Amino acid sequence: MPEIIARPRRARGRKVRPPALPAPAERARFRRVLLRWYDRHGRDLPWRTTDDPYHILVSEVMLQQTQVDRVLPKYHEWLGKYPSLEALAAAPDDDVSATWRPLGYNVRPKRLHSIAREAVTTYGGRLPDDRETLLSFKGIGEYTAGAILSFAFRKRAAILDTNVARVLYRVFGAKGDPKGHATTKHLWAVSEALVPKARAFDFNQALMDFGAMACSARKPTCLVCPMAKFCRSYPWTPAPAATPRRKARASAA
Ligand code: SF4
Repeated sequence: MPEIIARPRRARGRKVRPPALPAPAERARFRRVLLRWYDRHGRDLPWRTTDDPYHILVSEVMLQQTQVDRVLPKYHEWLGKYPSLEALAAAPDDDVSATWRPLGYNVRPKRLHSIAREAVTTYGGRLPDDRETLLSFKGIGEYTAGAILSFAFRKRAAILDTNVARVLYRVFGAKGDPKGHATTKHLWAVSEALVPKARAFDFNQALMDFGAMACSARKPTCLVCPMAKFCRSYPWTPAPAATPRRKARASAA
């Protein structure tokens, strides 16, 4: 259930030197190992066999906060009912909300609907293929723009959701609050530095699968992980649970 991660805006105040990016040799090794893993274990998903930007958009919005198994039937139902941006734009609001149920986070169908209407009104029923214009749509942020550029237009664009951020944080030993402003900014930069010229599409899909299937939040498979030799978090151990205050005082007495 990955969440998308917004790219932080420039922070005001004292300038702090950003952490170093992985060296070229580290980047190359990471890409090589990840793509080899993906070739063996990558999931076969319907949005990986299309380059229709609208279909990619639907899958990306559905996958935010929702597991793949729940998305699959709804993805097919949605595209059966609204096969194009024009069809979605012309649908009544109530119909769109009803079709979305029971996926939840009900602001998402409204966003999709609004994007479809803007695409039809302003861009002839197409999604643009440049970042700035995509970002000008209400409801398209950095992650979704990167996903559309990478998966639909096959451009060398970075993505960062919670699965991807967790992998990069662990493998490259990032420091600080994983959800903090500075760390998020650094991880976006790492993700950008890693996207290869060749196989950028596969690389981003592989990052998402690896975060969901191997380097998961609670039970990463470190003992059989192909990154183990160079992962700076190997073997990953969960942070100890915080002791409730009252208990801590009692045991200190
Ligand atoms: S060794 Fe563990 S923490 Fe490191 S990438 Fe593999 S699964 Fe993740």
